[in-house]
Amino acid sequence: MAEFSIIERYFNRRQNASVDLGIGDDSALLAAPPNHQLVICTDTLVAGRHFPLDTAAHAVGWKSVAVNLSDIAAMGAKPHSILLALSLPDADQAWLQGFSDGLYACCDRYGVNLIGGDTTQSPHLSLSVTALGWIEHGRAIARSGAQVDDLIVVSGTVGDAAFALQHLGHPLQQRLDYPTPRCELGLLLQGLASSMIDISDGLAQDLGHILKASAKGACLELTQLPLDPALQRLPEQQQWRYALAGGDDYELCFTISPEHYQQLLQRQPNVQTTVIGQIIQTPTIIFNKNGQAQPLDLKGYQHFA
Ligand code: ADP
Ligand code: MG
Repeated sequence: MAEFSIIERYFNRRQNASVDLGIGDDSALLAAPPNHQLVICTDTLVAGRHFPLDTAAHAVGWKSVAVNLSDIAAMGAKPHSILLALSLPDADQAWLQGFSDGLYACCDRYGVNLIGGDTTQSPHLSLSVTALGWIEHGRAIARSGAQVDDLIVVSGTVGDAAFALQHLGHPLQQRLDYPTPRCELGLLLQGLASSMIDISDGLAQDLGHILKASAKGACLELTQLPLDPALQRLPEQQQWRYALAGGDDYELCFTISPEHYQQLLQRQPNVQTTVIGQIIQTPTIIFNKNGQAQPLDLKGYQHFA
């Protein structure tokens, strides 16, 4: 199947009116809203490395978009559109149909347009998605703004995807295959959160990026980590390892003053948020269990300092 028929058949659904020129020309055209900054990021998924080889095509399509929208959400921005660079070993039509349906399902859920891309043949299946979003000038939430005594908060539950990867077929595989980018929450946090990151490499490591960028430390309470019931049944050290060192959560981790956190709760975010600790001056992470220092064995955890 020729490149143009692939694009025509699987990747050329209608784009909304805010796209001035979409798929079909050499570049796409968008009109920037006045006084906004472009927010842009890209992420590549390689088959066998970022997802198991037998992952359903629909899930691969969803996830390739979702992981990028998660990065846009982590800036407090609103996603607008994506571009897709697709490297395919062969034009397997059933796979392309599933992939395209999954990709558009995620686009439709978050009101995002596919506005362009590239299609090439290659021995390995890999997908790069670039996401674009807009944010009012100066309103983006960087990693560098955490202040002493800010609360450290995470959305949803953590460790589910890492658990699912080791228990394929468990209901939590949904969390691995269909991550939920926290776009609505990210937007609500504009003007409230002092710093933010999305959790892709494990909470401890990603929080470490906030701490390093902000030149601060953290005191975490392990008993407050938000865990799915399936993880709560595990021995403590395993629970903590999944929650802190597991990857692929795509939850948001942010810092926020106690006053702003109260304001957030009044705005009724569509996802549970949990306070797991506070920012401290000393650049380290202290792990407590019921207020007492707790030694941890975090396989795969790299200290940030
Ligand atoms: P060019 O050769 O000028 O780079 P292409 O022939 O690669 O253009 O692409 C033709 C049009 O199809 C462009 O608008 C491009 O953005 C779009 N396109 C190509 N591949 C994809 C894809 N996988 N998904 C979405 N749009 C695509
Ligand atoms: Mg061209």
